[in-house]
Amino acid sequence: MKEIHHWIDGKETKGTSGRFADVFNPATGEVQARLSLATKAELDAAVESAAKAQVKWGATNPQRRARVMMKFVDLINRDMDKLAEALSAEHGKTFPDAKGDVQRGLEVIEFCIGAPHLLKGEFTDSAGPGIDMYSMRQPLGVVAGITPFNFPAMIPLWKMGPALVCGNAMILKPSERDPSVPLMLAKLLQEAGLPDGVLQVVNGDKDSVDAILDNETIQAVGFVGSTPIAQYIYERASANGKRAQCFGGAKNHMIIMPDADLDQAADALIGAGYGAAGERCMAISVAVPVGEKTADALIEKLVPRIEKLKVGPWTAGNDVDYGPVVTKAAKENILRLVQTGVDQGAELVVDGRDFSLQGYEDGFFVGPHLFDRVTPDMDIYKQEIFGPVLSTVRAGSYEEAISLAMDHEYGNGTAIYTRDGDTARDFASRINIGMVGINVPIPVPLAYHTFGGWKKSGFGDLNQHGPDAFRFYTRTKTVTARWPSGIKEGGEFNFKAMD
Ligand code: NAD
Repeated sequence: MKEIHHWIDGKETKGTSGRFADVFNPATGEVQARLSLATKAELDAAVESAAKAQVKWGATNPQRRARVMMKFVDLINRDMDKLAEALSAEHGKTFPDAKGDVQRGLEVIEFCIGAPHLLKGEFTDSAGPGIDMYSMRQPLGVVAGITPFNFPAMIPLWKMGPALVCGNAMILKPSERDPSVPLMLAKLLQEAGLPDGVLQVVNGDKDSVDAILDNETIQAVGFVGSTPIAQYIYERASANGKRAQCFGGAKNHMIIMPDADLDQAADALIGAGYGAAGERCMAISVAVPVGEKTADALIEKLVPRIEKLKVGPWTAGNDVDYGPVVTKAAKENILRLVQTGVDQGAELVVDGRDFSLQGYEDGFFVGPHLFDRVTPDMDIYKQEIFGPVLSTVRAGSYEEAISLAMDHEYGNGTAIYTRDGDTARDFASRINIGMVGINVPIPVPLAYHTFGGWKKSGFGDLNQHGPDAFRFYTRTKTVTARWPSGIKEGGEFNFKAMD
């Protein structure tokens, strides 16, 4: 059986804990590798070594650090297909979707090439007589990234790019479900010129995460995953005096107004609802048609499109629409929630419960589901399902529709389909959700903007990537300097205006 270990001080390093996690092939259900799970002692040793490596890296000119990112971009492009194949093999998503996963991470590395500009401080000449004042952005030291299974390239890249180019060392603790791509990225960074020890990939589970949260050298924690864990990590990291940004789960609503282009809206819902088997934090899981006529027409357009979806392994070709979900437990949880929907009175218009794929009967495939007449008290509305299940909640008016999205505990993304600019502007202005699409179903901001949800979808005050990432991974030091006169005049005992 293949064993996957850690990446410490620039080399693959065998774990010593004797504890392992199974890494599955989600298409067949077979275990394809076992992954070392680190102990607290292993984690602490990796941090100690990273702290030593950070001193020189942090003092390296920003343009030299940016050049490592430039080279990293070339290497990711060179190995794009290899990375995407490894990603599909462990995650299960289709090959084109896996390339998209790498690509959206790569774009953040491209943005990081601008570090010398983004790290420039501020300067006030003559803030007082002979006095200058300047602010510098300095690295934090050693920081940590803890990432989820569903974007095993993109989210580690969102973490490591800004953290490293700002001059920090990073401990990356990827998801134990699909750990190979983060290790491949660490190797590519070494090839790009990153000094050994500056990026340590430590594989593990809760034990390693808790070791990160309690390690006194680690200054900041960036987390992406489910909401209960995000909240736990935010609270424990903050209580231990660390900077933390923790992004959680989602329940993204798409409102379809009566004036919307319904074919366009239905196509958007198919891609955003069922793509990647619904395992995206920006997936649309709730469709909210406004008015009975809109709802009836929408359902009529959705059903034939759903029935045509091609579900299969990534090896079956690029026309597969989506693959298996990540584990057997994930599949069972999705089917359990579907059953609660049926039991609580929602109308299951497309029933994927008996879905089975010939030759892949033990794979973690879930057929597409469509619910109609879902109500806010149902579990399938309240909880994140993270599977190919779209719920339709019929709203009587625009106000009722926007209230549904606003009252939901999650606030990651949302979308509205309409031809009316006034409605779209009102929606964008009032909605209490972090990322908004207007006739765009998955409004993931590009690398130079920032990504983050509101309410229970995000804990902390800075977003991922874009300028916020450079704020999160640096701290500001402000210097007031006076040369050379005035100092001889004696001490000052009161705050003095500098004029
Ligand atoms: P998860 O919360 O199970 O795991 C995320 C990370 O936390 C992993 O590295 C895992 O090892 C660690 N972890 C798991 N249980 C832990 C525990 N008890 N204590 C400490 N650490 C623990 O999430 P997942 O299943 O890997 O990912 C799917 C979730 O991530 C979904 O809820 C999805 O919405 C969310 N997500 C959010 C965003 C976003 O930007 N808001 C992006 C992608 C995914």
